[in-house]
Amino acid sequence: DVDSASDDVSEAVQVLRRVFGYDAFRGSQQEIIEHVIGGGDAVVLMPTGGGKSLCYQIPSLVRSGVGVVISPLIALMQDQVDALRALGVRAGFLNSTQDLEERRLVETEFLSGELDLLYLAPERLRVEQTLNLLDRGKISLFAIDEAHCVAQWGHDFRPDYLALSMLHERWPDVPRIALTATATDATHTEITSRLRMPDARHFVASFDRPNIQYRIAAKNEPKRQLLELLRSEHAGDAGIVYCLSRASVEKTAQFLVQNGIDALPYHAGLDARTRAENQSRFLREDGMVVVATIAFGMGIDKPDVRFVAHLDLPKSVEGYYQETGRAGRDGQPSTAWLAYGLQDVVQQRKMIDGSEGDDAHRRRLSAHLDAMLALCETVQCRRVRLLAYFGQQSGPCGNCDTCLAPPQTWDGTVPAQKLLSTIVRLQRERGQKFGAGQIADILMGKKTAKVIQFDHDSLSVFGIGEDLREAEWRGVVRQLLAQGLLAVEGDYGTLVLTEASAEVLRGGREVPMRREPEKAPRAAKAKSR
Ligand code: ADP
Ligand code: ZN
Repeated sequence: DVDSASDDVSEAVQVLRRVFGYDAFRGSQQEIIEHVIGGGDAVVLMPTGGGKSLCYQIPSLVRSGVGVVISPLIALMQDQVDALRALGVRAGFLNSTQDLEERRLVETEFLSGELDLLYLAPERLRVEQTLNLLDRGKISLFAIDEAHCVAQWGHDFRPDYLALSMLHERWPDVPRIALTATATDATHTEITSRLRMPDARHFVASFDRPNIQYRIAAKNEPKRQLLELLRSEHAGDAGIVYCLSRASVEKTAQFLVQNGIDALPYHAGLDARTRAENQSRFLREDGMVVVATIAFGMGIDKPDVRFVAHLDLPKSVEGYYQETGRAGRDGQPSTAWLAYGLQDVVQQRKMIDGSEGDDAHRRRLSAHLDAMLALCETVQCRRVRLLAYFGQQSGPCGNCDTCLAPPQTWDGTVPAQKLLSTIVRLQRERGQKFGAGQIADILMGKKTAKVIQFDHDSLSVFGIGEDLREAEWRGVVRQLLAQGLLAVEGDYGTLVLTEASAEVLRGGREVPMRREPEKAPRAAKAKSR
């Protein structure tokens, strides 16, 4: 495929320069590419923006035959292929959005060797016809993009990916490269075994994104808090705001527009045309803000996204990392800001309890949520915790909220005991369970209508927590949840003890807590624009 071979520059570098117009490889790109060109299998863990695509595109151009790329991002295939064609790379795709005629055309190109790259949706490989087609052509390599989708332990499992284990049996001589931007040790191991790649070389890049400033704030008036962030630090910047529900996406987008911000909604409930239009405005116009559900963003390559804000708690640390990773791909200072509150925990527990699937599945979801809560409530550097979650060690970063304004810790053992014993009394003496609001009212000795209705002012614990305010009690609840010393259950978010609670009640365990900073920290001078 390559015409002029010079002595001191490898074929891979020549393709990089001639086809893609870049001077040099980044990080371990060259090592990965040469390994795959040589016919080896590779598992690549590299953060978003690290440059994974070239790792299979260049070997596909250098090796003879067609590089087959398995990707779940059907909506992006057309764009990816168009971008490659614009560079003169012969690329095509096969997925469910095409009619028979379009598919035929691509199949013919594939068989006659007129393609360098063929993008395939994973469900295509379930169709015998596709397998026969691949048998009749010449394949240079298989690239399995978003490889974490094969892992059940991960946060984004897709059953169609399980079928990819057969690639090796059917085409044992074709090298495979699996790539992902998010993988814990457990997911990494699962990728390797499910894809049957015991002999693959592993390339694990640092997951650190030093230009992203991580900040997690207590949620009180989320839309106002967001507006304040945008006005004070990100006026005119492009960014993404994530909300959990379509309704809150709509409301938040409206609120921002009313306040003079160029915001557009994006969620699966909008018709395809509106979605495509909003996405392309975000990509092409300056300073657009997209308010979206997590349906938005996978694979979107916009380098100058200056902030990613979450108005609701992400379901997992992996999801949080992936979503925040869409900020600052150009390496410039960017903000990842999350607001979270007790209601998030209640809501997500409820979703987990009501989710389809077996107990093991619910336990996985719970473990993901617990890890996310622990990240929110940590007094350590956010980045240290985040990287540790992906099995990578680092020191305090100086560019996250806890580094910039270290939260003070206080001994929360006594309040924890008061709160836990209130829950115990309600249950033992009255056979009742309540949510955080009622329990805080009892502790603070508030004679609300509901307190009187249930005669809670006659409990011996009534008023024993007058020294703390409502917001502080909520903080205590959140931190106990994050430390596994308390659990929420049911539709109403009632609080119940865990096995570990007993030790606190007995006085056998201290409970350190973080004190919320008076004012949210602002970007450090040196790192802001
Ligand atoms: P990933 O898939 O890992 O998120 P991409 O493959 O989309 O990352 O690459 C991110 C951006 O970096 C793209 O715009 C890509 O063209 C660019 N890029 C990748 N490798 C290089 C390189 N060696 N030199 C310059 N730019 C690069
Ligand atoms: Zn830090």
